Parts: sequence; structure tokens; C-alpha cells
Amino acid sequence: MGENFTVGDRLPGRRGRTGTLRTPHGEIATPAFVPVGTKATVKAMLPETVKSLGAQAVLANAYHLYLQPGADIVDEAGGLGRFMNWPGPTFTDSGGFQVLSLGSGFRKVLAMDTERVRADDVIAKGKDRLARVDDDGVTFTSHLDGSTHRFTPEVSMGIQHQLGADIIFAFDELTTLINTRKYQEDSVARTHAWAIRCLVEHHRLRSAAPQRPAQALFGVIQGAQYEDLRRAATRGLVHIGEQPGPAEGLSFDGYGIGGALEKQNLGTIVGWVVDELPEDKPRHLLGISEPDDLFAAIEAGADTFDCVSPSRVARNAAIYSHAGRYNVTGARYKRDFTPLDPECDCYTCANYTRAYIHHLFKAKEILSATLCTIHNERFTISLVDRIRASITDGTFDELRAEVLGRYYRDR
Ligand SMILES: [Zn+2]
Repeated sequence: MGENFTVGDRLPGRRGRTGTLRTPHGEIATPAFVPVGTKATVKAMLPETVKSLGAQAVLANAYHLYLQPGADIVDEAGGLGRFMNWPGPTFTDSGGFQVLSLGSGFRKVLAMDTERVRADDVIAKGKDRLARVDDDGVTFTSHLDGSTHRFTPEVSMGIQHQLGADIIFAFDELTTLINTRKYQEDSVARTHAWAIRCLVEHHRLRSAAPQRPAQALFGVIQGAQYEDLRRAATRGLVHIGEQPGPAEGLSFDGYGIGGALEKQNLGTIVGWVVDELPEDKPRHLLGISEPDDLFAAIEAGADTFDCVSPSRVARNAAIYSHAGRYNVTGARYKRDFTPLDPECDCYTCANYTRAYIHHLFKAKEILSATLCTIHNERFTISLVDRIRASITDGTFDELRAEVLGRYYRDR
């Protein structure tokens, strides 16, 4: 049993498990889906509503809060949870992903035909690239006002300590699947060196302010789609305190599995990483929420997940349902007086119809965002809750066959 995590039931013959993750602001029963409140708000939602959906924690973003309103203001407010009126557990991601994706035009590159974008120099040469990585850190341009900023492992730790979330992440370099093998190797080495600096700075800051609630630092594992790199990166982080040097004797409180993962190999990659991780530490998978991805990740041993998708797509009228995903602005819903998902137990489905929500979108009424976010977040949280229960009662495979069979029936 680890200090902050206890394993519960196991999925026989596989790596999946249930567990309890303890934080200064409460416990999280795992597997658990963690809604994203990027700028210290789950968009269009009251925190009380988020809680009522069964959310056990929220995850905010260090990059966004650093730029606006500033980590010092969140600190003065008493930390992220106090600032946003969320009394439960909180996470912040390190900012690495945003600095290197939103900040750099990576998304545009990712969306391009990968056949035509093979070499790293194609990505790096772009005149409009807004983030530059060196061995010490990343210099980037604010997406808000074009001002120049620099994140290093120490800066990220300082920001995340000021934000005060219960679970924070080491500053890592995000790569894409189209970076070359050589670049991935260099990047894993850089992320490891940054992990050492994060651990050292985290412990320095904790020692300097022992009265503050203890934050748990998770190391982030990169290595893209390469088995040897993923395994080596994981072993490096797990044994980081055994090497002579500044991080000697220190260790991470948990691990984040980062990087661009393709659907078809998500379970395989998580499996490699989990093989190398200790049983008694929690594992967070960054950025998944699709039903098939959730089953694959949980089966492979991941404990917590965050994703902005349920709320982001809700604002664009995309609705998750037991019978699959659909867009409620479609003409066929204009006179459909049934709930968004007849099998859902959420407030929206108990009280509103597809026809009404269709109307709200057509009339550009902001209530559409609230009602659809309630539904999509509840759908995702409740699915993960059911998966957790199925591990305990031995019905994981039956549940997966039933849920995915219906959700992807038309695929
Ligand atoms: Zn619903």
C-alpha cells in the first residue's frame, strides 16, 4: 500500500484494478473520470452541478491560469479549489501540453496529412511556430497577447505550487507521432532530465512551506509509439531516486501517461508502461474520454483520466448516448420530444427534450451549453463508475461488449 493509493479489486489475468486515491481534499474511487476545468471553471457549469454529476475531482491547466489571472492571484485566493469554489480534489497539468500544442501550432501540424510531414525540420522551421524547446525549457508566445514567456521545470513547479492543486504533474515535452525516432529519443532524455529538476524543486518548495496541504507530484511518461522508449522512460522515472545526484532518495507519488496515443495502440502502450510501474502508485492517463478508449485504458491498468471533450463537444451539440453519438441540431430532432438519452439519469434527461435543446442551439441560447455539458459529463462519469463496479463484480467483459456493441453499432 502506497502513501496515497490503495489497490482494491483486480481484473483477473489483466492489469486493470480498482483503487482509492487519497488527497488532502478527499478520496477518489478509481477508475475515475476527471472533468476538465481549464481556466478554473468547467465551462457553463456551477461547481455544485459538477459535483452532482458524480465528479470526484476536476483538472485545471497551469498554462492558462499562469497567463490569466496569474498563479499569484489563485495563491492569494487560497488555492485553486478555494478560488473556484470546488471543495474536492483538484489536479493541474504542467502546462507542457499547452505550451507545445496550443502555443506552437502543433494542432495544425497534427491535422495535416502525415504522409507529407515526416521530418522534424518540417515542423520546426515554420515561421509561425510559437514555442521553441531547448534543453533547459521552452520559450513561447502567449496566445492571449503575443507576449513572450519561458517555462522551465522550476517555473512549472513554482506555478503549480502557487495554484495549489492536490495532484500536479512534472513538466514534460510533448511530441507528436510524426516526430522522428531520433527526436523522440532526445525528447525522452530531455523529459527525464526535467523530471529530476521537477522533483528537486517540488521538494524544495514543500520544505519551504510545510504548513500548506501536501501536493502529490506525478512524473510524466513519454516515448510515443515506441515500446523500448516507453519502457525505458518509465523505468527511468520509477528508479529516479536510486541514482546518485540531486534527486537521490526522492520519488514520484504517481505517474502520468502522456503523449499522442492512437486509438488502435492505446491499450498496448498503456500496458507497456504499466508493466514497468509499481503496483502501489496511481496512474493517470492524460486526455481520453471515448468509451472504447476508456475500456482499453482501464483494462490496461490506468486509474484516472481527464479529457476536455465531453464539455467541448457538448457546446457544439454533439451528444453522447447509449445508442451512439449524434448531433442534436439535426433536422430529425426538431420534433423529437424524447430525452437526449432515454437511459441517462442526468438532470437534463429528466427534464428536457431533444426538440427543446435543438431549439436552444438554433436560437443560440447559452442554456444549450449547460444542459448538454451536464449530460455528456454525466454520461462519461457514469460509464467509468459502471466500469469500476464491473471490475468488482466480475462483469467487465460483459459490460464492455454491451456498451461498445451499442455505442459503435453504426460504425
Ligand atoms: Zn442525460
